[in-house]
Amino acid sequence: MKILIIGGGWAGISAAVEASERGHQVFLVEERPYLGGRARSFIDRESGHHIDNGQHVMMGCYSSFLRVLQALGTEHLLERQRALQVAFVDKSATKSVLDASILPGKLGVVAGLLRLSGVQFTSRIACVRLAIAIALGTVHTTDCTCSEFLRRAKQPEDIVKRFWEPLVLATLNAPLDKASAELLVAVMRLAFLGSREDSSLLIPTCGLSDLIEPLPSWVASRGGSVKLSTSVDRLIIADHRCRQVVLSDGTIHHVDAVISAIPQRALERLCASSGTPVTFPAAPESSPIVSLYLWYTEQWMTHELLAALGTTVQWVFNKRRIARGLVALTVSAGHSIVGVSQDEIIRHCDAELRELLPEARHATLIRGLVIKEKMATPLFTPTTQRIRADHFMDQLENLLLAGDWTATGLPATIEGAARSGIWAIDCLSRVP
Ligand SMILES: Cc1cc2nc3c(=O)[nH]c(=O)nc-3n(C[C@H](O)[C@H](O)[C@H](O)COP(=O)(O)OP(=O)(O)OC[C@H]3O[C@@H](n4cnc5c(N)ncnc54)[C@H](O)[C@@H]3O)c2cc1C
Repeated sequence: MKILIIGGGWAGISAAVEASERGHQVFLVEERPYLGGRARSFIDRESGHHIDNGQHVMMGCYSSFLRVLQALGTEHLLERQRALQVAFVDKSATKSVLDASILPGKLGVVAGLLRLSGVQFTSRIACVRLAIAIALGTVHTTDCTCSEFLRRAKQPEDIVKRFWEPLVLATLNAPLDKASAELLVAVMRLAFLGSREDSSLLIPTCGLSDLIEPLPSWVASRGGSVKLSTSVDRLIIADHRCRQVVLSDGTIHHVDAVISAIPQRALERLCASSGTPVTFPAAPESSPIVSLYLWYTEQWMTHELLAALGTTVQWVFNKRRIARGLVALTVSAGHSIVGVSQDEIIRHCDAELRELLPEARHATLIRGLVIKEKMATPLFTPTTQRIRADHFMDQLENLLLAGDWTATGLPATIEGAARSGIWAIDCLSRVP
């Protein structure tokens, strides 16, 4: 089949790899001059360093994402933890560690939770009891937020603050009182209650764009092509099928099938300008992520990564491989700071680091860079989670949907996007 893929983010990339491997002829069109979409890197003009648009962390359970890297031969660019290990630090500068390496498989995570310091023993037992119920599938999440779910499951405040809330922010990019509990349970089952490898973190040792750098030549070697800096402007529809696609360079392409791998609002605009009668479920609101890069004179950070508790800063990453003294910070669901000035954010987060980490107190800050991704991910509440779009649309039989916003069963993540690309290609068998 001749397939046109709209969008070169992780959903489009994964669809391109999957379709090429199944022998289809792929033409991927991306409007920006680079691939990667919301997960990309760029060269910072002032330092010359390769910087990501925001630190991304993947996990061993990201099987669709890893399938792409294996095909492209870039899997070696990820550093894998042997087992999940995350150090937490709070404002009293007390560190505790969630260490799943003590026992094999999911027992490792359970043992790690039982040993988590800074939390009452009874709270740890309550947490483990809930984890087991999730693993056994005996919990009910229909139409409930994470706050309601954790309240019903009688989770004490200390374990909510020190485990559940950081987990929800990091994986769902949403506050507890808005995030869908169904997605929290999906994350727990897939990532934390699978094998030891599933729960371990994968951290890129390079810029995010390096992971996908071979894609254009890889696709070309299989008879396809990738076109950058070109947008799909219009779909020409007849008899419930997309017959042709009009690009911004004026060219018109005949297609057997189209994979839309663009965000929901972009697809709605494209359908409107094409005069198609397609209707979509109401788009979820977006949740921002604010990322910071701070360059210090000294290499003060010793951990690879740290989760910060009770501060605006939520995660601190050691970026020594890029530059000595460079750290990256993440603020997920950053609604409260996304409107604050860059200088103020840098001042505030630098002060928090010094409060959290004695080793940072004597370091001199050289420079800071703030990246605000206002539309980082769709925010899935219980309502918007329930109505996520399927990959196959009855209204247009050869237009298949991919993207982190579609019904992947996962939060909006690289893995959700990569999974959606594969599932959209699976749907080609339903195209008449
Ligand atoms: C700062 C930040 C941190 C994150 N951290 C993590 C993390 O740690 N772990 C994780 O798993 N996920 C993380 N995510 C989420 C993850 O990056 C996204 O879920 C994923 O990249 C979405 O991929 P996508 O392909 O669905 O969409 P996109 O990446 O948005 O790709 C869509 C592409 O379509 C293109 N496009 C749009 N319209 C057109 C058109 N008409 N014609 C041609 N092209 C078009 C766009 O330019 C874009 O490149 C993070 C996101 C951000 C922003």
